[in-house]
Parts: sequence; C-alpha cells; structure tokens
Amino acid sequence: MQEAVIANEATFISRSLWNATANATPQFNPFSGSQDCDIAIIGGGFTGLSAALHLAEAGFDTCLLEAETPGWGASGRNGGQVVPGLKEDPDEIERRFGPDMGGRMVRLSGNAGTFVFDLIKRLGIDCAASQAGWIQPIHSETAMATVSTRAEQWQRRGAPLRMLDRKETAALLGTDSYLGGMLDERGGNLHPLNYALGLAGAADRAGARLHGMSRAMRLEHKGDHAVVHTDNGQLTARKVLICTNGYGDGFSGAIGRTVVPIRSVQVATAPLDKAISSSILPKGNSASDTRRLLRYFRLGPNNSFIMGGRGDYSQAGTEHQFEVLRRASIALYPQLAGAEWRYHWGGYVAMTVSHYPQLMRMNSSVWAASGFNGRGVAMASALGKVLADAAMGTPEEELDFPVSQVNPIPFYFMRRYAVAAAVAWSRFRDRFS
Ligand SMILES: Cc1cc2nc3c(=O)[nH]c(=O)nc-3n(C[C@H](O)[C@H](O)[C@H](O)COP(=O)(O)OP(=O)(O)OC[C@H]3O[C@@H](n4cnc5c(N)ncnc54)[C@H](O)[C@@H]3O)c2cc1C
Repeated sequence: MQEAVIANEATFISRSLWNATANATPQFNPFSGSQDCDIAIIGGGFTGLSAALHLAEAGFDTCLLEAETPGWGASGRNGGQVVPGLKEDPDEIERRFGPDMGGRMVRLSGNAGTFVFDLIKRLGIDCAASQAGWIQPIHSETAMATVSTRAEQWQRRGAPLRMLDRKETAALLGTDSYLGGMLDERGGNLHPLNYALGLAGAADRAGARLHGMSRAMRLEHKGDHAVVHTDNGQLTARKVLICTNGYGDGFSGAIGRTVVPIRSVQVATAPLDKAISSSILPKGNSASDTRRLLRYFRLGPNNSFIMGGRGDYSQAGTEHQFEVLRRASIALYPQLAGAEWRYHWGGYVAMTVSHYPQLMRMNSSVWAASGFNGRGVAMASALGKVLADAAMGTPEEELDFPVSQVNPIPFYFMRRYAVAAAVAWSRFRDRFS
C-alpha cells in the first residue's frame, strides 16, 4: 500500500475501541546498524508475532521488523472474533487437497481457535479471551441448507458444534431477526490489540529481537543469505518470513499482489448500562452472520456493543458505512437507539481468489503466509507457527498446510473495480436471498 493510504490508515484507527482500551504498549526500538540473525520476520501482526514466538522458543536467533508498532495492521483492528475453520467446509477441503493434506488442514483450522486460547493461557496474556463459542446466525433458507451441511460435516469429525433452532438462536443472540444459527464451541472472542501486544511481549521474553518503526525497504540475496535493508541499517538472515498480509508495500512486491486488501469497518458504543448489555448476546458469544456482505457483532470491553461490516475506500463512503452499521445495530437491537456511538475504525482484510489462506515459498530463503479471508485471529496465529516450522527446516510434505509458489493475481491494478463489482453483486444477492 502506498504512502497516502498508509497515512490514511493511521488516522483510521485513532477512534478505535481497541486503541482506547489497550494495555501499556511495550517499547520496541527502531532497528539500526548492521546485524545478523537466523530468521528475519517482516510484519508484526498475528502471523509474524506467532512465528517469532515459536522460533525464539525453539532457540532460533529471530529478529522481527515492524513498520509501525506490533499490532498496527489488521491484527490490532479486527473484530476479535475467534472463528475456527476455513471458508470451505471439511469435505470440500479433503476432496480438493486429498485425505492426507486435506485432513491436516481440517484439523489445523478446526483446532486453530483452541490453539489461540491455549497459547493465551500458557503465556498469561491479558486480552479478555473467552472461549464462549462463536455463532453463525442464518439469514435465509439457502444459507440454512449450507450451514446445516457444514455442521453435519464437522460433527462427523467430532467437533463440538451444533445447529440452533430459531428460538435458541434468539435466546443466545438477544434478537429474533434470524431464522436459526450454528454454535461452534471452539470459537469465542478476545481483545485483538491486547492479544497482539501480549504475543509481542512473549516473543520478546523468549529472546526474539523486535523492532518497531522499522520498515523493510529492500531485499537483497547474497549467496545463501538474504539481506533486508531499512532506512537505518541492514539485517542479514538465513531465512526471511514476509508477514505483511493486506498491508504489503513495495517491499512485499509480488507476495503482496497475491491478496486483495478489502476494507472492513466497525462501530462501537460507549459502555452500556447493565440492563441493556445483559439483553444482548447474554452468554458472551460472538456472531458473524451468513450474508455475503456479512455483519459481525459482539459485546466488547466494559460491555460496549461492536458491529462490523463492509467498508469503503473513500472517506465519504467510509462515513456512510459507519452510519449503515449503526442503523443495522439498532435494527437488530432497538434498545441501542439511545446509545452513544463513541468509536469507529477499520482496516484491510486480505482476501485470496481461492478463499484459502496461503503458505508460500518464494525461493530457498524467502517464505510468506497471508490471505486469511477475515478469519485471521485463529488462522494467522496457527499458520504463523507452521511458517516457523518451515523456517526451522521441517520438510514441506510434513507441514500441516500445503506450500504454494507466489502467484500474483493477474491484472492486479484492476482490483478496486473487481472488488466494487463483487460487492454490488453480493449486495444484490443478499437483498433477494
Ligand atoms: C476490520 C477488520 C475486522 C476483522 N475481523 C476479524 C475477526 O473478527 N476475526 C478474524 O478471525 N479475523 C478478522 N479480521 C482479519 C484479521 O485481522 C487478519 O486476518 C489478521 O490480523 C492478519 O494478521 P497478519 O499478521 O497476517 O497481518 P497484519 O496484522 O495486517 O500485519 C501486517 C503487518 O505488516 C506490517 N508491514 C507491512 N509492510 C511492512 C514493511 N515493509 N516492513 C515492516 N513491516 C511491514 C504492517 O505495518 C502490519 O503491522 C479482520 C480484519 C479487519 C481489518
């Protein structure tokens, strides 16, 4: 993303609920001088931080460069919904990738939520994590059939997940606006920025060197080593892991062009009176509905209500989307009519054409992982560990995710038009479903 967009992104988080309720941010000094390490990591979101943590814990000399501060990208801005699984359902994953690799992907993604909650517990991260369960509320008969199939496939694999009838859905959500739902007990929610900051602190304590305000500018290959250049120095490493996801810039190059960054925005109220907050998602679940342009909602710190949905690239369009979300919240929960809407913010979700995340090997020393399609709280954390395994030398065929080459999306410069067309088509289909 170029300079203008990045400046825009900085102001975009100034009214973020997560920033307003963040724990003290550890200081990570800018990188300088000429340094060596085993593994260099570029990007300090869940992917890069999880990779750094697992590498440092395994005794590798690891150095992470983040252009801003850890958690500045999507990881510190998202809805904090811990959603297990991939977009595709388990049978389709196994059909497409075969029973062995497909089975490993299903297990990795299905267990990704529990992986996150276990990690938080083991490291003692203070991020309001709760494995209260994730609900997928159903908005149409067509979606009902799709979600029932999904639930049946996971149940066959022993996952703790079940369909909810209309009455039970209404009781768990606190609104009767949906036809039914699916409850996945492996999911839940957390404070995403505090989770990212906690991962950064844990990686630091494990011995990784983390540097904020250290943008990687250029990559150079020298024999079997790679050299990452910043404005203030150069870092020589045996391996480089590029974890810039939807915030890729000139440094990420072709790797950045394998994903389409799509704006997603959120609005949140000031803390609500107990009488109101206890009537919304009373069991502490989080929810993302089945619309193509989905809405996701939950309660947050101090019982504020948060709703997220599609964003826009322009300032005026973004303001409009904030208002659309406030109105949608009140339509779902009329008791929010008098609430103070204190926060609004957003960021880039990295989408892939296939809807699968990608673990990529560019050459013998450069690897990358990206494209979590809006499910990165769980999957970026889990795939960050797989990336660490790859960097440690685990053979590709033993990794729990397939390795692909770097395949940039053709006609990338047209992406905004393609996104606009896809959004219009999805809105049309949502309206008539
Ligand atoms: C508004 C929103 C809501 C979302 N809601 C959810 C949700 O509820 N549940 C869910 O599972 N997922 C959600 N997601 C997706 C999730 O946040 C992402 O999948 C996840 O955070 C990706 O993590 P990452 O580490 O790969 O990327 P990021 O967190 O984006 O990190 C990339 C980092 O790379 C840095 N960087 C870029 N270029 C350079 C460079 N040259 N040098 C150094 N550093 C660089 C950036 O500054 C950035 O910090 C949401 C995303 C958004 C934007």
